[in-house]
This record gives sequence, C-alpha cells and structure tokens, in this order.
Amino acid sequence: MLIKIDVAVIGAGVIGLAIAWEIAQRKKDVFVLEKNHTFGLETSSRQSEVIHAGIYHPEHSLRTKLCIKGRSLLYELCDRHDIAYKKLGKIIVAANENGITQLEKLYEQGRRNGIEDLMLLSRTELKRLEPNIEARAGLLSPSSGILDAYSLQKFFYSQAREKGAEFVFNTQIIGIEKAGTGYKVQIRDREGISDFVARVVINSAGLNSDKIAQFAGIDTAKANYRLHYCKGEYFNLSSKYRNLMSRLIYPTPEQAGLGIHVTLGLDGQVRLGPNARYVETIDYGVDETQKEAFYNSAKKFLPMIELGDLAPEFAGIRPKLQAPGEAFRDFIIAHEEQAGFPGLINLIGIESPGLTASPAIAQHVGRMVKELLG
Ligand SMILES: Cc1cc2nc3c(=O)[nH]c(=O)nc-3n(C[C@H](O)[C@H](O)[C@H](O)COP(=O)(O)OP(=O)(O)OC[C@H]3O[C@@H](n4cnc5c(N)ncnc54)[C@H](O)[C@@H]3O)c2cc1C
Repeated sequence: MLIKIDVAVIGAGVIGLAIAWEIAQRKKDVFVLEKNHTFGLETSSRQSEVIHAGIYHPEHSLRTKLCIKGRSLLYELCDRHDIAYKKLGKIIVAANENGITQLEKLYEQGRRNGIEDLMLLSRTELKRLEPNIEARAGLLSPSSGILDAYSLQKFFYSQAREKGAEFVFNTQIIGIEKAGTGYKVQIRDREGISDFVARVVINSAGLNSDKIAQFAGIDTAKANYRLHYCKGEYFNLSSKYRNLMSRLIYPTPEQAGLGIHVTLGLDGQVRLGPNARYVETIDYGVDETQKEAFYNSAKKFLPMIELGDLAPEFAGIRPKLQAPGEAFRDFIIAHEEQAGFPGLINLIGIESPGLTASPAIAQHVGRMVKELLG
C-alpha cells in the first residue's frame, strides 16, 4: 500500500532541519529525506559559522529581512538552549580611499536595513580596538557573532524528532510527480526504488535544489532557477595567531563573496577564508596553489602574517543563483501554485546568510504550510 504523509522535506541541512522543527510543532506528519547517512554533511558543515548582522544586501530582499529576523531568533535560541555562541562583533576594514567609500556605502545600506549599532571607525579608533590590524578605516558591527553550527543543527534535529518528525537517511529523491492533491515522491535507498505520496513537498536540497525543482516539472531555465557552484576554500592559521584579534575581520566585499576574511572559531582557532571561485563540479578538496592568493589578500590588513603559517583546511560550495559577473540575486522561497504546482515549496539559492536566517526561513515556510494544511 502507498504510504501517505502530510509533508516531505528534502534535505537535512540546516534549512531542512529548521523547517522540520517548525512544522513538527504544528502536529503534522513530517518526513525528512536525506541522501547522506546523517544530517548536515554538505554546505551546512562547510561554512564560516558567522551570525551575520544583515548589512550587505538590499533592504527589501529576503536575504536581508530573513537574516535580521534570523539573527535575533538565533541569539534567543542559543541562550535558551545552551547552544554555544559568542557575540564578538566584526569589523570590515578599508585599505585605501576606494575602500573607505565602500565602507560608507555599507554603513548607509546597513542603516537602511535597520541595523542601528553600526559605527564607522577612524584608523586610531580601529587600532584601539584591534591593535594588530592595519587599515585606513573600519566599520564596526557589534551584533555579528559566531556559533556552533553543529550544535544548532543537532538542536533542530532532536527537537523535530521529539515533536514527531521522522528522519530517513541514506535515501535519495530521484523523482517527483503530481498525484491528485499531492505528489508521488520516488526514492532510492539500500532496498531499491520505491515511492510514497506527500500533500506538501518542501525542496531544501541545497546544491541540488534546482534539479529537484526540475524533477517536479518546473521549467528551471524559464524560471531562472539554475544554480552555479561557487567554491569557498579556507586556510588555517597557526596557533600563534590565537588572541591577536578579538573580532571577525573582513575586507570590503567582492563581487561573488564577502572577501577573504579572518574568522575565529569558538575554540579560538583562527582561519582565513572563504575565497569565491566558480566551479563546475562538487569537489570539497582545497587547492593548495591558492595559498599565495590568501596570503596576499590577508597581508593587506594583517601585516605580520607569514606564508608558512597557512595550512589548507576545508572548503564549502555556495549554491549561487547569480552566474559569474551577474548582479545580486535574492533567495528563492516559492510556493509554486502559480506555476501549476500547488503544495510544492522550492528553496533555491540559499547561500550566505542561510545559516543565520535558518530559524526565520523556517517560520516563513511554516506560514506557507499553514495556509496549505491549516
Ligand atoms: C563557504 C561558505 C561560507 C558560508 N558562511 C556562512 C556564514 O558564516 N553564515 C551564514 O549565515 N551562512 C553562511 N553560509 C551559507 C550557509 O552555509 C548555507 O546557506 C546553509 O548551510 C544552506 O543550508 P541548506 O540546508 O540549504 O543546504 P545543505 O546544508 O547543503 O543541505 C542540503 C541537503 O540536501 C541533501 N540532498 C540534496 N539532494 C538530495 C536528494 N536528491 N535526495 C535527498 N537529499 C538530498 C544534501 O545531502 C544536503 O544534506 C556559507 C556558505 C558557504 C558555502
């Protein structure tokens, strides 16, 4: 007999986990299907673990609104459920006149986005806060922070399970077909190929989310849903850099990423990254030949750095909607009713600040599901 459920969530990254947690609280049958053997093994564990303030993107975009909402929800969740974090603040630094103009624009953008605690810093003020950083000026964001992304995902996972969500690992979605008022979802697991029916399908498959939308029948070329992979590599800095900085230090942003920055781990580990390189395939290796580019980039604001102090660490891949050279693209979070697919919710292009935005994205999708299932 064909199994029938209320909601199928595809992908157990931080987004699928947060959505499962949100929906399970509304007493609906939720199944999360994940191709890997456990949750959070792709982009959600290959990133900077930064709680972003919401400075960079346009005020009306989902990337801004969900980041700002997500940030305050995250700090609350972390406090309430003992998820490790530090609200250590971040400084974006300018190396030259052009950079100072960029900082002023970011300050204005941040203010338009509703971030009230931003402060432009002179060179002297910057030196007072971060004596080891060299720059002409800075922009301080006190409400940026870092968190333990694994613990956050573990929290969503265990809370969702407690509320009744079922997690099905080692299971890959290979087809989706409209069936009455729902969807027949085809899966492949160790026992072979089988299917079940879900009234609502939520596609939070990260790097594969455009392909999943296509499985369901969406014309992804027409809808402009095609993803481009943009790799971000990280290099570790040796232990002598611990305690040299007390905040996250970012250069002014680049076209595809936020610029190679200094991130601090909760354990005090200092790393550089990520860069932003468009690639054709998903390969998480770190290209050691990038080391010199990382060194040259960081040396501009961290003059004491030495090439031998960098060691390749890990890489993640951004699911980008914008192709190389294209302008800003927003997150796609769409109930596809207009396209003729009621009950199909696509989340595509959930790159940074997806981790920060995760609890707000979950609420946003939760409202869509409420409209569909009550
Ligand atoms: C280099 C880098 C740095 C970043 N830094 C930050 C940061 O500091 N702060 C921040 O807020 N955000 C950051 N982000 C963004 C953030 O990491 C992502 O937005 C977030 O992790 C996306 O989560 P997700 O659940 O959508 O994707 P994923 O974590 O990729 O999860 C998708 C899941 O779907 C599964 N899946 C795919 N296809 C199928 C299928 N056919 N069947 C079953 N399962 C399937 C995958 O196995 C995977 O587990 C960064 C991203 C990158 C790449």
